Amino acid sequence: MDFSDAHTDIVSTVVSEEEIAKGLARMARAIEADLADKTPLLVGVLKGAIMVMADLARELRIPVEMDWMAVSSYGRSTKSSGVVRILKDLDSSLEGRHVLIVEDIVDSGLTLSWLLENFESRGAASIRVASLLRKPDAMAVEVPIDYLGFDIPNEFVVGFGLDFAERYRNLKGIGVLNPEVYRDEA
Ligand code: 5GP
Repeated sequence: MDFSDAHTDIVSTVVSEEEIAKGLARMARAIEADLADKTPLLVGVLKGAIMVMADLARELRIPVEMDWMAVSSYGRSTKSSGVVRILKDLDSSLEGRHVLIVEDIVDSGLTLSWLLENFESRGAASIRVASLLRKPDAMAVEVPIDYLGFDIPNEFVVGFGLDFAERYRNLKGIGVLNPEVYRDEA
């Protein structure tokens, strides 16, 4: 879905479809340089990371495996609860694996720091993080992002996997949602 199809809900473009593709290619080249001989396990965080995982994985010119984890997120609210709960665990063992966590967005960094701690306890050989987007608050906490697409302003964005109440994930670009849409629900 293009922004023009949802023009009443998207007030501005934050990262266009073309910029996303370029950002993911740049990230992929850096990942290849670090992990070429390691057959990394890409761990996508459902559901937001589905598009990032699909496009980043296809952009990578090295062998990879993929697994998925689902943790609790904002639900219908646009504010972080700070509570992380496993909704779906990994199918694979992390023992001795080189893990690359694939994220759509790092905001408070709570989800990521929790994931890093959790994965470290499972015996991974190395853990790296790739995130398409980062918000300003993430820079205040100790969350290492090895491969970053874009720093974005502190606004609620949707598209390319990111939702509001399960909608807008299928937008090809990333944009700011009209606050009118969630004003009564946040
Ligand atoms: P954090 O734990 O870093 O605060 O963020 C965890 C999750 O919050 C992200 O994976 C994402 O699902 C959600 N999130 C944070 N900022 C946004 C945003 O601007 N838009 C959407 N749709 N989700 C967000």
